[in-house]
Amino acid sequence: MNPVNKSNPVISAVIPAHNESQGIEVAVKKIAEILTHCVNSAWEIIVVDDGSSDQTYAKILALSQNDARIKGIAFSRNFGKENALLAGLDYATGQAIITIDADLQHPPSFIPEMIAKWRAGAKIVHAVKRSRKHDSIAKKSAAYLINQLISGLGGINVKNSSDFKLLDREIVDIITHQLSEKQRFFRGLTSWIGFDEDYVYFDVANREGDESKWSFWSLLELSITALTSFTGFPLHIITFLGFLTLILGFSVASEAIWSLINHQTVSGYTTIIICLLLIGSFVMISLGIIGEYIAKIYDEVKGRPHYLIKSSVGIHDD
Ligand code: UDP
Ligand code: MG
Repeated sequence: MNPVNKSNPVISAVIPAHNESQGIEVAVKKIAEILTHCVNSAWEIIVVDDGSSDQTYAKILALSQNDARIKGIAFSRNFGKENALLAGLDYATGQAIITIDADLQHPPSFIPEMIAKWRAGAKIVHAVKRSRKHDSIAKKSAAYLINQLISGLGGINVKNSSDFKLLDREIVDIITHQLSEKQRFFRGLTSWIGFDEDYVYFDVANREGDESKWSFWSLLELSITALTSFTGFPLHIITFLGFLTLILGFSVASEAIWSLINHQTVSGYTTIIICLLLIGSFVMISLGIIGEYIAKIYDEVKGRPHYLIKSSVGIHDD
């Protein structure tokens, strides 16, 4: 547990950044300005450079030189946003920690309202997306489907949720000390934890300048992690598929036996092909689902660290 210390900042902001050199300075300055307005100088900003290949870390170093409350962590390579968020939470020392994207798609203007809700007693303040008009239809539909699946099957509410959150120190200590899993889905975990929650609603702003830093594959990987971390339901689908093929088998077998008894030539080439293809695809899908869970278990048992830090500025390992 982090002792309440007078020199500790009241608020920490954690910003994951991957190739954000274009907008990181503006984002940090804007967030700093708003934090100053809320808590005077009792804040810190930790930018986690997630293996950027551009000048992101150089910009963080320059910002940090001008203002010691701006701190930086550079990963040895790209470990993904989930791990960048975790590193920020590991090293943040504030009494409340705000996680916010580097591209200003999470409007910092909501920070004062989130802090007010925290002061009023909320342990977690979720910023929920009211609209995502700048996303493509494909991205909107994929996000909708995945969020519905996770919320429906996993029993946690991640509909329209975002990684823009305010977490009380107590919650951060739980995430960093008590949840030992390697595969993390931050949005799901913060919802799973419970405690007193509150919400603010925002419109997703347009991404300034460049494009999203998520590739199709990294989004797919995150979706699989989210599903496998919160529900075993896909495994039950296999049992269901098994019963379905059993019923199919019985009906086709009875027809074949009936034809045999009546001395009719057993026809049904088409039926055989359909059955073979159906059963074949059921088996492959089932193996795939089991494989995904085994892959996740494999990652967990390897026990490798979530991330490796190449260098840092303003961070104290105490
Ligand atoms: N990000 C990261 N590591 C990655 C991909 C993204 O730290 O591998 C950061 C990125 O710099 C940004 C945030 O995660 O601050 C959200 O990424 P992005 O804006 O590309 O995602 P989207 O808004 O499309 O969900
Ligand atoms: Mg974004």
